[in-house]
Amino acid sequence: MSCNISISGLTKRFGTNTVLNDISLSLTPGERVAIIGPSGTGKSTLLRCLNYLDRPDKGLITLGDLSVDAERASRADILALRRRTGFVFQNYALFANKTARQNIMEGLTVVRDWSKDKARARADEILARIGLADRGDSYPSALSGGQQQRVGIGRAMALDADLMLLDEPTSALDPEWVGEVLDLIRRIADGRQTMLIVTHEMQFAREIADRIVFMDGGRIVEQGPPEQIFGNAQDERTRAFLRRVG
Ligand code: ADP
Ligand code: MG
Repeated sequence: MSCNISISGLTKRFGTNTVLNDISLSLTPGERVAIIGPSGTGKSTLLRCLNYLDRPDKGLITLGDLSVDAERASRADILALRRRTGFVFQNYALFANKTARQNIMEGLTVVRDWSKDKARARADEILARIGLADRGDSYPSALSGGQQQRVGIGRAMALDADLMLLDEPTSALDPEWVGEVLDLIRRIADGRQTMLIVTHEMQFAREIADRIVFMDGGRIVEQGPPEQIFGNAQDERTRAFLRRVG
């Protein structure tokens, strides 16, 4: 599925700390946007607010025909938003007491209300696509970090979401597992899945993203095509950040 997505005036405070300050951002169907920026700048909070893992204080989130206004969001609005977004966590966040297959089925049976049989068939199809067809019965503790994160990504893929949100999907991995996870995300990006990905992998962002968004201090400072941001950034804060990480 894909649709136009727009975020308008998104604001989030933790106590007196304004972590997101009037963020506006739109994505066209199939667009792949990478968010970069210093730590503590609100990147995770932005992704979490889009899935209502954190509740924004203000702002409007629109996915196709669904509009959710933070100041008036109902339980049904929030469920509808969750149904249409998939989240990939830095630390995988798999259920330890469920197998790889059950982890992938969970969102389909709980959020989507699919039957067990239908969810199992979909999970098996996804396990094959993430290269784990023979590991469906394995528990997370029996899988490598790279395999666990592929299951985490598979769980989001299974939802066929309008928007996939990936929060530093490789930064908790031992270096040996980073490549296989980036390969999987690259394949998803090649399939034109609309995505917002927070990453420290600058080379990867440059390669897969249509647009780079640089955030600092809870605001979008600058955005543009990779060649512009990496080659000719206009704002000194962007240039300073890129010098530090590059
Ligand atoms: P990033 O992902 O860019 O590193 P975060 O979105 O995780 O940044 O955090 C942005 C700011 O919000 C930080 O100052 C962080 O301490 C604060 N923050 C994040 N989550 C919470 C929370 N649940 N309660 C209080 N403060 C939080
Ligand atoms: Mg973060």
